[in-house]
Amino acid sequence: MRSLPRVLIVEDEPAIAELIAVNLRHNGFQPTWALDSETAQRELDAVLPDVILLDWMLPGESGLSLARKWRADARTRSVPILMLTARGDEADRVAGLDVGADDYITKPFSTRELLARIRAVLRRRAPEQAGASVTVGDLALDPATYRVSWMGQALKLGPTEFKLLHYLMTHTERVHSRAQLLDRVWGDHVFIEERTVDVHIKRLREALGPAGALVETVRGAGYRLTAQLPTASPACSGG
Ligand code: CA
Repeated sequence: MRSLPRVLIVEDEPAIAELIAVNLRHNGFQPTWALDSETAQRELDAVLPDVILLDWMLPGESGLSLARKWRADARTRSVPILMLTARGDEADRVAGLDVGADDYITKPFSTRELLARIRAVLRRRAPEQAGASVTVGDLALDPATYRVSWMGQALKLGPTEFKLLHYLMTHTERVHSRAQLLDRVWGDHVFIEERTVDVHIKRLREALGPAGALVETVRGAGYRLTAQLPTASPACSGG
């Protein structure tokens, strides 16, 4: 049910970009390719990828400048960036890491090395990609078997609610805005209204039953999954 990780390749040399794209596609990734900074920005505006492969030497705006810009932007801040550099440019590599690239890879590189680096940044940045089961308090979710349970009782969730819960459970106690949830759960926020998030949060709470209270609304900010059920209000505790 999990969608394939999206990789945005920003590379102006068609032969290299195509080789990377073919290899990624054969290895369970969804590559898209931009040959210049403007196309790359358009791609990013449309769909947030899971990882960006960013060539250093581009016509117009450099890879370094793009990395700096994307790190400064709240929407793209947490997308892992793997920089592609020419052999021996140590100063470049250091500068790349300084502006917030997650890793770099030196050209020419083997497919195996590229895939290993991509998987490593994905694991570091997004543990939910690894497919491991997660528990938050009495709530358990297993992406491999597609099962969710609360105190050992199986729960029935729709595919979107499942993805939403998976994301929230791997990022607990943090407030997520609707726009962030659209990016991270839906993957493409352009044609979907933010209100859609509210609809699925409502369905998720209903599906969770008593555990639905773990999904908190943070007024004016978004939603948060907490590990602690709110304590009963004083009015209910009798006296
Ligand atoms: Ca280049």
